[in-house]
Amino acid sequence: SIPLGYFGGIGGASSHGILVKGGNYLEELRNIRSVVLDKTGTLTRGVFKVTEVINDNKLANKERVIEVAAHVEHFSNHPIAVSIINEYGKEVDENRVKNITEIAGKGVKAVFDGKVVVAGNKKLMLQENIPITIEDKSVGTKVYVAMDNKFIGIIVIADELKKDTISAIRKLKEYGVKDIVMLTGDHEEVAKDIADKVGITRYYSDLLPDDKVNKLEEIMDGVDNKDTVVFVGDGINDAPVLARADVGIAMGGVGSDAAIEAADVVLMSDELSSIPMAMKVSRNTNKIVW
Ligand code: ADP
Ligand code: MG
Repeated sequence: SIPLGYFGGIGGASSHGILVKGGNYLEELRNIRSVVLDKTGTLTRGVFKVTEVINDNKLANKERVIEVAAHVEHFSNHPIAVSIINEYGKEVDENRVKNITEIAGKGVKAVFDGKVVVAGNKKLMLQENIPITIEDKSVGTKVYVAMDNKFIGIIVIADELKKDTISAIRKLKEYGVKDIVMLTGDHEEVAKDIADKVGITRYYSDLLPDDKVNKLEEIMDGVDNKDTVVFVGDGINDAPVLARADVGIAMGGVGSDAAIEAADVVLMSDELSSIPMAMKVSRNTNKIVW
């Protein structure tokens, strides 16, 4: 028979599209002390669009910058890669691409038409000793593209907040969550822009996957042992952080398999408002323990 608490408990949560992998996790959601969130795909939709291409006039035109980047990004399923491939709009010729390496939290490197191509963030350019020779002032996530050790251009891409992000963050505060923290691999400028928009005052930018785990541990060390620290994320990079948190919450729709596997709770709708909803279900469940 179905236990009496079922409709208020795990079953109640699942009727809201919240899959909880154990009663203890639901119990822990009753009072959350800290909610730590990833940015891309978690606070934002993770659906990027190319908004601008800046090229080095001597080395490549805008179309060429996109063509080169689309080919080396073809094997990545990072939302950034998808946006560049969409912008290219044509069939990518896989035979022109060799030796692909994806560098987590930085970008990709591959050989295209026999030339070494690097596409990714500033950290990657630094690592590859490629000087960035173009200045640009636009706000957005930027992919720097280099070919044969020469910088050829910048692709600017923009993401947008999920519809319910602002209200979900507000609700978490109403429900008594004391700390809301954003962790991102993206750069400071974009991090600040998103944090300001959603009302998050504590955030850390330019983090590599390992840095995210370290930051979460730092946050967990700073609170009482009995206090629940939740991490919410979607990417492959987030799997270790999801596993480390008291309760790891993954996006079920946009989320990677690794993230869903490592998580304790999966949100089928990808909506952040499912988290305050889960808190509510947990509180009601605890009231009707028979
Ligand atoms: P987040 O989800 O917090 O944005 P990620 O670790 O997924 O963090 O990515 C961090 C940064 O690494 C991105 O903002 C981007 O600058 C760079 N990056 C990661 N993957 C790629 C890729 N395939 N192409 C270009 N840049 C990438
Ligand atoms: Mg992400």
